[in-house]
Amino acid sequence: MSVFFRLPFSMRPAHLRSFWGIALCLFLAAMPAHAQSNERMSFIRDAEIEAYLHELGAPIFKAADLNPSSISLLIIQNSDINAFVAGGMNIFIYTGLMQATETPDQLQGVIAHETGHIAGGHLVRGREAMSNASAESIIGMIAGAAIGVATGKADVAIGAIGGAQTVAERGLLSFSRAQEASADAAALRFLDNAGLSAEGFLQFMAKLEGQEALPSERQTEYVRTHPLSQDRVESLSYHVEHTPALKGHALGPTYQAKHERMKAKLLGFMQPQAALLRYTDKDPRLPARYARAIALYRSNQLPRALTVMDSLLKEEPENPFFLELKAQMIFENGRVAEAASLYQKAVSLSPDSPLLRTAYAHALLEGKDPAQLDKAIQNLLEANRLEQRNSETWRLLAGAWGRQYELTKNDDYQGLVSYALAEDCLSRGEDKEAGHYADRALKNLKKGSPYWLRAQDIKLSVDPDAKD
Ligand SMILES: [Zn+2]
Repeated sequence: MSVFFRLPFSMRPAHLRSFWGIALCLFLAAMPAHAQSNERMSFIRDAEIEAYLHELGAPIFKAADLNPSSISLLIIQNSDINAFVAGGMNIFIYTGLMQATETPDQLQGVIAHETGHIAGGHLVRGREAMSNASAESIIGMIAGAAIGVATGKADVAIGAIGGAQTVAERGLLSFSRAQEASADAAALRFLDNAGLSAEGFLQFMAKLEGQEALPSERQTEYVRTHPLSQDRVESLSYHVEHTPALKGHALGPTYQAKHERMKAKLLGFMQPQAALLRYTDKDPRLPARYARAIALYRSNQLPRALTVMDSLLKEEPENPFFLELKAQMIFENGRVAEAASLYQKAVSLSPDSPLLRTAYAHALLEGKDPAQLDKAIQNLLEANRLEQRNSETWRLLAGAWGRQYELTKNDDYQGLVSYALAEDCLSRGEDKEAGHYADRALKNLKKGSPYWLRAQDIKLSVDPDAKD
């Protein structure tokens, strides 16, 4: 993993260069070091893990009368144990917490509790822009407030933040014990209504309970930001005992297998050396081989990594995430065309994954074959339809349209490049640059065309005075 802000697994710094010489607005750089663990935060995107988190969340969100597709579950690379809600409908989960959960039920319990904070409106009301803020810009704001988090004063329910400065000045608000109790009660209601047992949630809370007696600098962030008390664990325990219908009603082996793959993947990517020690080549279990394949690849042992990867693909030839991983491995080693055909298969198996489509398009574009340009653009547009605010997708689209311009010298494509860059900047909360690119797009695009209208929306949203 790199320390770059929101650098996804599927990218490495070499790919961050601008495409075909197009000037890009500044890519928000690394987060400040986390004072306690001296660790930088980065934002992890992974199609497989995100799909798994959504699967765990979906029944909870439905039980809470929330539309599952309106809630984002986002992964922060940090070994501390924490989870929080921000920007209205975003649940952020640290990799440290994911690794600390032993079962899918435990992780689902945490998601249920965070959903309780969302449903209870335990957020400071924000300026309007905040409710639309992208995950990236929220992370930026959290970065601005990281000092507050590290001193333990902080909580992470961020709703009304007009910029990092303001957050740092105010500090972040702690949830009160009353809000914790209310989020727990809501979590139990959601779990009950969804026919899911709360035993996992209880187990995880009981595991953290011992921490409360520790001095605050030794507690996990979760304990500091979600005050735990004996009362909380007792009421969870009481509820589990008195809901006999759901006792022992744990998520089954399919979920457990996904959970173990998630943990193996995270360890393989983030701590390859530790993964190779934990999962030796004597260990025939699938998650063990998965972790090894990733760890070998991460430690520059590509041929060995590919041998393991091929054995996994032999077992599950239709697994889109295995195909994706192999594609990523060979793409980063220059076998672009082969990678593109693996990504193509992954996309056909999992057509609703925007991350897979973006990765596929990236491989097509790197191939530099004009005949593949339209296919790349179609996949990027579909990825954007599925997930609006992924800045990588917009940057790739700007590059692809720029290439179209070079080939055709049609000015419309110049307008489209500016438009895509405006979206890219907007997705990271860089309003001023977004307005600048939107202006350029408006000059080049045909007046009244759909993208012209969208560029105008961007301009109005970042500069309300522009209406006059
Ligand atoms: Zn809480």
